[in-house]
Amino acid sequence: DAGRLGDELGVPVYAVGGFVRDLLLKSPTLDLDLVVEGDGQAFARAFAARHQGRVREHSKFKTAVVVLPHFTINANQPPREQKVDVATARLEYYEYPAALPTVELSSIKMDLYRRDFTINALAVELNPASFGRLVDFFGSQRDIKDRVIRVLHSLSFVEDPTRMLRAVRFSQRYDFRIGKQTLRLIKNALQLNLLDRLSGHRIFNELKLILNEEEFLQDLEMMQDLGILKAIHPKLEMTPHRKALLEELDKILTWYGLLYQSPTPRRWLLCLLAMAATWKEEELLALTVRLGLSKKEERELVTLRRSVHKAMDLLKRWCAGDKSLSELYGIMHQTPLEGALLLMAKFDDDCIKKHLSLYLTTLRGIQLQMSGEHLMDMGLPPGPIYTRILDSIRAAKLDGRASTLAAELALAE
Ligand code: ATP
Repeated sequence: DAGRLGDELGVPVYAVGGFVRDLLLKSPTLDLDLVVEGDGQAFARAFAARHQGRVREHSKFKTAVVVLPHFTINANQPPREQKVDVATARLEYYEYPAALPTVELSSIKMDLYRRDFTINALAVELNPASFGRLVDFFGSQRDIKDRVIRVLHSLSFVEDPTRMLRAVRFSQRYDFRIGKQTLRLIKNALQLNLLDRLSGHRIFNELKLILNEEEFLQDLEMMQDLGILKAIHPKLEMTPHRKALLEELDKILTWYGLLYQSPTPRRWLLCLLAMAATWKEEELLALTVRLGLSKKEERELVTLRRSVHKAMDLLKRWCAGDKSLSELYGIMHQTPLEGALLLMAKFDDDCIKKHLSLYLTTLRGIQLQMSGEHLMDMGLPPGPIYTRILDSIRAAKLDGRASTLAAELALAE
């Protein structure tokens, strides 16, 4: 339908980027990026109106995002809300490397030329007369077939050093190698300290994308081997100890993922803490400055680290005591989810690991029948006493169920 609308408006429309790459790799994606050779924003408005969608425009970059309420991209899947990015084919000039581009109208070829890698520089025509025709100016199909990541020109990393991190991410995700010349350009870019010119915020965004990948560990190792980690921050290094901790964390994240529990842990918090496990707090703060974390993110990271340290000491003591479940709940319920997962990874002790998994799967979600409303109905004046009463009831319930839970633990063993 985008192509038909293109005809009506008299503009060529293409699907581009990751969507086409994943189509050729037979790993379909739901992200749809369109490029319009003409007024992309006018196209986006018409497209949204036609599908009862909403449109958000970025005039500075002549782009728009359309959110469609019931969009079917794949006949085998039910319709769902769908985001479509619409860009205007354009020529970009960079005032100086790593700066934001200024924009001027141009063609699809220039649009594809400014992309990161050949594998992302493919387009498919959508207008009915040529529907489905691949537009491949830069040998993209050959590179996908040869499983290689290549930049489009030798200044690519000078223009945008975040592409070094993207090269690693795509290389590990698709098990592609990075081309020889591209590898050389990455090494040159690192020697020229090009990452130093980037805002921390941009590096952090790419790092978050990496840490959300299934292969994040291999990504980090590759970044270590290439020297990208230490270029981001001299103390970021995959030592054997950190690697072992991250491997354990990876296993635990896979286990937790299979439980389909919400919320989903924020991997950037976990991985940064695992990397900085032995650092002083000031050193961690220096990293947060380099990565341009917001005040809120910085606070979360520091608070999480403190709560992990505190819980670690308490858990060691708990383990030497009578191991009551109410006490375990008392230690853990102040610790955010990411803290509990990190503790599971840190402790070698099987008993603590099992109890932490019991906490995450069962204890954490235990509901009380009794509530503040009941206490009010009983005529008790509201106040801090409510929390104390409810806490004691929860403790009784947790410890009262100890035999059942112990049986569950025995089964887990
Ligand atoms: P993913 O599957 O991770 O979402 P994607 O290729 O769709 O991968 P996006 O970050 O959504 O990645 O980018 C969409 C497209 O925009 C890319 O395919 C690429 O063509 C282009 N692009 C994104 N970031 C850059 C960049 N830093 N430099 C050049 N082109 C980029």
